[in-house]
Amino acid sequence: MNFDAQKFFANSVVALPPSRLGRFFDLVGERDDVIALSIGEPDFPTPSIGKQAACLALEKDLTAYGPSKGLPGLRKAVVNYLERKFDLSYDPEKEIVITVGGSEGILLAIWSILNPGEEILLPEPCFVSYAPAINFIGGIVKPVPSTIENKFKITIADLEARITPKTKALLLNYPCNPTGASLDRNELEAIAAFAKKHDIMVICDEIYAELTYGSKHVSLASLPDMKDRTILISGSSKVHAMTGWRLGYLCCNAQLMVEILKLHQYLLMCAPTIAQHAAIPCFEEGEDDVAKMFAEYDRRREYITKRLRAMGLDIVDPEGAFYAFASIKKTGLSSDDFCVNLLNQQSVAVVPGSAFGESGEGFIRCSYASSMKTIEIACDRMEAFLQTIK
Ligand code: PMP
Repeated sequence: MNFDAQKFFANSVVALPPSRLGRFFDLVGERDDVIALSIGEPDFPTPSIGKQAACLALEKDLTAYGPSKGLPGLRKAVVNYLERKFDLSYDPEKEIVITVGGSEGILLAIWSILNPGEEILLPEPCFVSYAPAINFIGGIVKPVPSTIENKFKITIADLEARITPKTKALLLNYPCNPTGASLDRNELEAIAAFAKKHDIMVICDEIYAELTYGSKHVSLASLPDMKDRTILISGSSKVHAMTGWRLGYLCCNAQLMVEILKLHQYLLMCAPTIAQHAAIPCFEEGEDDVAKMFAEYDRRREYITKRLRAMGLDIVDPEGAFYAFASIKKTGLSSDDFCVNLLNQQSVAVVPGSAFGESGEGFIRCSYASSMKTIEIACDRMEAFLQTIK
């Protein structure tokens, strides 16, 4: 009898659309000559203090499972860091869990509050894993599209228009991947009032918080009466150039944390122990390393936005993260076609905005977490490519 593998697949998995970002990365991966502005990860090595701590932990054979919540030293280090940097106050025993990257935090946050049929307001364009995480458990995504005219910010009117009795939460990511938009205190106060008025939770993915240019990042949970209503997700991937270590954290009220810890224990047991040892000094004394990386991102940000504008592409100055989100609508090409043609003709990889939701169509995401030299070459080639389609 022939074996029919498909007959065994779960409907919930089959129903997940393949990641458009993944498909594009597969295309890029087939070539070895690509100048890439496609990848959303720092080109810097992990700070030496982190690497040294990891080596020491290895030498001491600290390679076993750790406490499920995370190493006590790391929980304290993160909580102190959050207080110092963002005026947040969490109990290291009851209100924080160390996760396997921000990615696990996203799953824990969504899965711990959402019943099938309940809705999450999701500003778009947005990071690719939110919608599948919501859909996978039978939740419903209510996209809240944003536009370049609004600087990729959602308004309270946009939210009011989509709220229903089934709305359980709003999922915010600021600074935003892919648009680079962030939210200031006034905008956050309006969102806080909206969340309280409708009695909903807010999941805040603030993984790019430290990469905020110009103004200081404000955490929603630091606003009056918002701590218990907010689930904060963040981690070391971006700020400490630690993507491969898989180190994140989630903070929320102590009651919800009891539920979240059940999920975390059954799913993952604990975050990687060596990565936790590496992260402790990064949170305790990584300020200088972060400042150096930040200064370099800022320099690249200025350069790339100037170049993209000079090419005639519309772009809003990124307020945070390390992405420039440029409109290619003038070219008449879809974002998929633009990116595939650019890859084929000039061996430059940027990501189609459509990978981040429908409202990302007509845009490209250019990461400036690549070296200045790479950005310069990519811009020169993109300019040449644009000449051919004028
Ligand atoms: N949130 C956002 C907005 C991201 O851009 C990313 C990574 N690209 C993540 C979460 C996941 O990060 P991690 O590597 O910590 O899982």
